Amino acid sequence: MLKLFRVNDDMISSKYPYRLNIYSKQVREEAVSNLVEESHMKCGYCESQLDKDKWRVNIEHIIPKRVNFSKVHPMNLARSLEKISEKSHTEINCLTELTMVDLPTVHDNLCFNYYNYIASCDTCNFAKERGHVIDGVQYKLLPTIDPYDEEFFPENLQWKQNGQVEGLDAINLGTLNIKCYRELIEILHLNRKSLVDSRSDKYRAVWSLCLQLTLCRDEYQMRGYDIDWSRIEGFSRLDKELDIASSYFAMKFELIFSRNSSILNLLHEKYGDFRSLTDLLVLVNNQR
Ligand SMILES: [Zn+2]
Repeated sequence: MLKLFRVNDDMISSKYPYRLNIYSKQVREEAVSNLVEESHMKCGYCESQLDKDKWRVNIEHIIPKRVNFSKVHPMNLARSLEKISEKSHTEINCLTELTMVDLPTVHDNLCFNYYNYIASCDTCNFAKERGHVIDGVQYKLLPTIDPYDEEFFPENLQWKQNGQVEGLDAINLGTLNIKCYRELIEILHLNRKSLVDSRSDKYRAVWSLCLQLTLCRDEYQMRGYDIDWSRIEGFSRLDKELDIASSYFAMKFELIFSRNSSILNLLHEKYGDFRSLTDLLVLVNNQR
């Protein structure tokens, strides 16, 4: 999972200031084009490649739209709504006095607000819709699953060579906002078998490619040649894997690229100076 940034969102929100009706074909296509640009053509949650047919990409609601508000803890609802209302410039009345919240307005805002959207695959969309509902209706986890959140850091997801992922919980004492990365993994089923298998296949393929290429580079160095990566067989395959738009980039970065100095240098050449995955993502976003 990568940290995501909004792109061209001002344009969209000024064009559709109050209601972005994603059930209209034209509006939906516009929204999806923008959302997939933001998520690098991948599911914003699991980093699997999305269907090229934009009509088949899910517009997932970050804060679920089907919520029984009477069962939601008021603090969580307030936090979540504040988050989207601040960014969207639309009006939600009485946020601070939840007893006076106009529920239809809130529901409408969750449904038709660009800032509540993320592009996702079918499986994550379905998992999340089911996962938020615990014992009928529970909503306690909603502020934590938002790759666009400024306090979301992909470094808190720890990738394993076998394709599994574990989460570190992080507490920001400033805002008292608890990020439950473990629960995030559970809710989205990020350790589902098909995904774990794909990640572990990817890990093994890219790891052996990197090994092969660095051996080749060592050979060049031993013979006293300057390294011209582009002349090394297999480089174009590596170049594709070094692209942030490639599948499972977060895992590859943490498990492979950041541990191999010459491969890391290639990433620096491609994108510029960074110290962490979050740094790199900020950099890429600033270059857009
Ligand atoms: Zn997904």
